[in-house]
Amino acid sequence: MVAARRRSRQIMVGNVPVGGDAPVSVQSMTTTLTADVNATLQQIAELTASGCQIVRVAVPSQDDAEALPAIAKKSPIPVIADIHFQPKYVFAAIDAGCAAVRVNPGNIKKFDDKVGEIARAAQDAGVPIRIGVNAGSLDKRLLEKHGKATPDALVESALWECSLFEEHGFRDIKISVKHNDPVVMIQAYRKLAAACEYPLHLGVTEAGPAFQGTVKSAVAFGALLSEGIGDTIRVSLSAPPVEEVKVGTAILESLGLRERGLEIVSCPSCGRAQVDVYTLAEQVTAGLKDFPVPLRVAVMGCVVNGPGEAREADLGVASGNGKGQIFVKGEVIKTVPESQIVETLIEEAMRIADDMGIE
Ligand code: SF4
Repeated sequence: MVAARRRSRQIMVGNVPVGGDAPVSVQSMTTTLTADVNATLQQIAELTASGCQIVRVAVPSQDDAEALPAIAKKSPIPVIADIHFQPKYVFAAIDAGCAAVRVNPGNIKKFDDKVGEIARAAQDAGVPIRIGVNAGSLDKRLLEKHGKATPDALVESALWECSLFEEHGFRDIKISVKHNDPVVMIQAYRKLAAACEYPLHLGVTEAGPAFQGTVKSAVAFGALLSEGIGDTIRVSLSAPPVEEVKVGTAILESLGLRERGLEIVSCPSCGRAQVDVYTLAEQVTAGLKDFPVPLRVAVMGCVVNGPGEAREADLGVASGNGKGQIFVKGEVIKTVPESQIVETLIEEAMRIADDMGIE
């Protein structure tokens, strides 16, 4: 079991609560030009369908800022505007109906100190702010002080950024302290969690292509979430954003922080296997894709661990001698020839869904 959740202030990102006792939410970021409203809304629709709960869009130009009202209005999930340096886009995002803004007030202060005005506008509109500290864009002053983007440097930067809003009485904040090294990132979030009550947005920044980024994110988020740290997550991959949502959702599912959909418990196969476990697991996964009921299905290659795992699952098969023993809820219900294992498992899964009254 994961540790009890750290106590954090709850904020509302549109209709999605973040922090407090709210479930950990999954978010992603569009890769389209934000100014291209149709393409951006299309990608948001795909993200929503894959389970994304909050979406962030980059706002680097006036054209992007002008697209925000249409995007915020038509998006089925809350939209966060990601803004650097330009206070005027922050006001535009708030006016546009964006659910939140990511902005680092330290940047705003450097160029045009409008932090107080932003705090008031956000407060009046009920719009929270994410302060997103990133190792790659750490304040020069802190880089000089700490030598590099250490956990202490990231936390000091985040708390300083928060203080700029706190001076104006603004506290509807969530924070991220991202680093591409999961070890540094984990330490930074642990320190930050101990130092403040703000909800935390977890992220390993520039995590890399899909495989590497998935591993890094799973390791880092797994460590922190199992300690009760983290209120919303974004997996960053050099891959389509839908993949980020799938990975984020799977991480929450594997920690028991979200109800699992289909879970295949399949063995890695070994010299004892009496069936092609890889093919069998793939066929069962494909056959039960989009299955409407949470289901744990064991696909095991022989009789050593097979019956034990199959018995523990909702549904399972232990293979051997060209046959498969089919288990439902811990009981062997039949033994079928190897060629009928997949279809039998799918039929039994349908029967379980029927019994639950789900079509
Ligand atoms: Fe090998 Fe059997 Fe274990 Fe699969 S269940 S890994 S085939 S011993």
